[in-house]
Amino acid sequence: TEQIVLASRPKGLPVIDNFRFEAVELPDIAEGEVLLENLYFSVDPYMRGRMNDTKSYAPPFQINEPIQGGVVARVINSNSPLFIAGDMVVGLLPWRKQTVASANSLQKINTTLAPASYYLGVLGMPGLTAYFGLMHIGKPKAGETVVVSGAAGAVGVVVGQIAKIQGCRVIGIAGSDDKTALLKEQFGFDEAINYKTTANMREAIAEACPNGVDIYFDNVGGPISDAVISHINFHARIPLCGQISFYNSTETPIGPRLQPMLLTRSVLMQGFIISNFQSQFAEGIQHLAQWVKEGKLTYKETIVKGFNEIPNAFLGLFNGDNTGKMIVQA
Ligand code: NDP
Repeated sequence: TEQIVLASRPKGLPVIDNFRFEAVELPDIAEGEVLLENLYFSVDPYMRGRMNDTKSYAPPFQINEPIQGGVVARVINSNSPLFIAGDMVVGLLPWRKQTVASANSLQKINTTLAPASYYLGVLGMPGLTAYFGLMHIGKPKAGETVVVSGAAGAVGVVVGQIAKIQGCRVIGIAGSDDKTALLKEQFGFDEAINYKTTANMREAIAEACPNGVDIYFDNVGGPISDAVISHINFHARIPLCGQISFYNSTETPIGPRLQPMLLTRSVLMQGFIISNFQSQFAEGIQHLAQWVKEGKLTYKETIVKGFNEIPNAFLGLFNGDNTGKMIVQA
């Protein structure tokens, strides 16, 4: 089969030459293993961190070894009582067209409830990130104002809709007019701001949030976050989810630059990694699936076709190429 390995570590923005395609022979499946055909590949911003040789919550990818990520696959052959041929599963798997995996590392998915690829998005890691970050750290109350950055992405569209379900006023920040229009028209956001064309973000936030900001769900960090935090309310909560504006930075990031605001307004800013909530994933999935079923939570994907396009789709995340979840269909 074919696989994609890390050829070299990026300096700053990753480039296509950091990846290499190669042929690999798969072993026979041993007891407890399955042979899989990989159908949908998730590309995610956190993978940029794993391309560096630095210690983090996930170990670095190794040079000349396949990149790993969330994958939806079909079981072709099973040597485990857990699965039969034809089952659809999700797992953390190598970027290969086919692969052998331990059955214990996979979860069966229900494709009658939602399309298979949703298990990489709204019913997978990004959806759970939105749910736990907002509900367990943000703790929204009806009538509060919630601002979300990276609002038109995989996590952001779910955060905004859950906040609406909780009765909040929701403002999204995203990088194009198409995205801001979609946030308002399809996802029910009250206001949306295009940070790329707005000259004065502080003013724009003030205008969109006349009662200040009670929850800021931060996916990006940097100047966008400074603008939001300058309007933060007393006892506001800031779930610190992502900092994509720094991921390709070659310098040590500065900030948060508005500590006086956080201090004088008794703000709670809490970072989190979705695996912190692993023991409660079933609760999260149950709520998300119920809202999807009831039509209260809708979803969007940018589906790129072709195994060979996986690296390009990943690079596109840093260029805002995706609306909703970026997925590659093999
Ligand atoms: P997205 O689907 O939101 O894709 C990334 C988006 O980020 C792009 O589409 C782009 O949209 C925006 N972006 C890219 N570069 C910049 C920049 N320099 N400044 C501002 N925005 C930028 O990704 P996810 O929804 O999967 O992830 C969102 C964030 O959440 C990421 O930071 C990710 O690392 C984090 N995350 C954290 C988890 C955790 O456990 N804490 C788990 C999952 C995700 P635009 O056009 O709007 O610029």
